[in-house]
Amino acid sequence: MYKKTCKKIKSPHNRGDFLELLCKGAVSPQVGLSFFPHLVLSMFKTTFILISKRVLTHDVYELVYSCPDLVKDIPKPGQYVMFQLAPGLNRSYSLASFTTDSFTLVIKRVTEGKGSSIICNAEIGQVFSGMLPLGHFMLRDTVVSKCFIGTGTGFAPLYCQMLACTSLSLRVAFVFWVRNLVDSFYSSEIVSLWEQIVDFRYIPYLSREESPGFTQGYVIDWIIPGNIIEYEEFYLCGSPVMVKSAREKLASLWVENRRVFWEQF
Ligand SMILES: Cc1cc2nc3c(=O)[nH]c(=O)nc-3n(C[C@H](O)[C@H](O)[C@H](O)COP(=O)(O)OP(=O)(O)OC[C@H]3O[C@@H](n4cnc5c(N)ncnc54)[C@H](O)[C@@H]3O)c2cc1C
Repeated sequence: MYKKTCKKIKSPHNRGDFLELLCKGAVSPQVGLSFFPHLVLSMFKTTFILISKRVLTHDVYELVYSCPDLVKDIPKPGQYVMFQLAPGLNRSYSLASFTTDSFTLVIKRVTEGKGSSIICNAEIGQVFSGMLPLGHFMLRDTVVSKCFIGTGTGFAPLYCQMLACTSLSLRVAFVFWVRNLVDSFYSSEIVSLWEQIVDFRYIPYLSREESPGFTQGYVIDWIIPGNIIEYEEFYLCGSPVMVKSAREKLASLWVENRRVFWEQF
């Protein structure tokens, strides 16, 4: 039973079942701590209500939830919420921003996706159950230059982390890829970041078409010595393929592991 539980919780979707058992006292905190120290120590179970919904692209939504409980343990930029949609149906989403009583998500509605379709089709006022704040992909509390590299909905935690950089005097770069122009979103929010961060560089990539202001290709192309030399820390989020390639390329350019932080989904 113990071995079976340990194997199951390796999957991000199964963490919710495991955390539910932990909340009920059916699994000892020692088991949890040995696997997910950050998840277990900080999270709590709560409900939240959908209060705003905005269509950002043909398949990406911005969803805002009211969650008065958030004040119990304010998340760190880069953390996520786990929705408990039904028994055995748990889905995680990174916070794109938050206040002391609300949070915003940026979610891609996956065709035939069991979880994202329920969440993106929800009506205003719908109540959800879940756990937060979760995860260890957190912005480091350091006043050094930071480079954020992402693809698709990997945008959410990186945006949240960059918002936190607006209060500091830092050099920041945001290197971001989507396939086509119709997949890009949050352009006015990026302009706002650019206005608030003294030294901000935005390098958007499109792989399937050319468009003014975008570089054609992939974020990996940007990782060359002349570009990365200016940055101390690297935050990566997006598809597993991109995160793996970016980590390998950074390592090949002698960027130490301790300077690279990542989340993939
Ligand atoms: C820590 C963490 C943070 C996350 N944050 C976000 C976030 O901020 N925004 C967000 O949109 N997602 C995020 N995800 C992914 C999210 O949890 C779900 O995996 C995703 O929404 C798909 O769930 P689903 O139930 O709709 O699809 P499922 O029913 O699980 O899968 C249906 C099919 O779609 C495929 N699929 C799954 N994801 C995608 C995708 N992105 N594109 C195309 N096909 C896919 C699956 O392989 C499967 O074949 C995060 C995941 C983790 C672990």
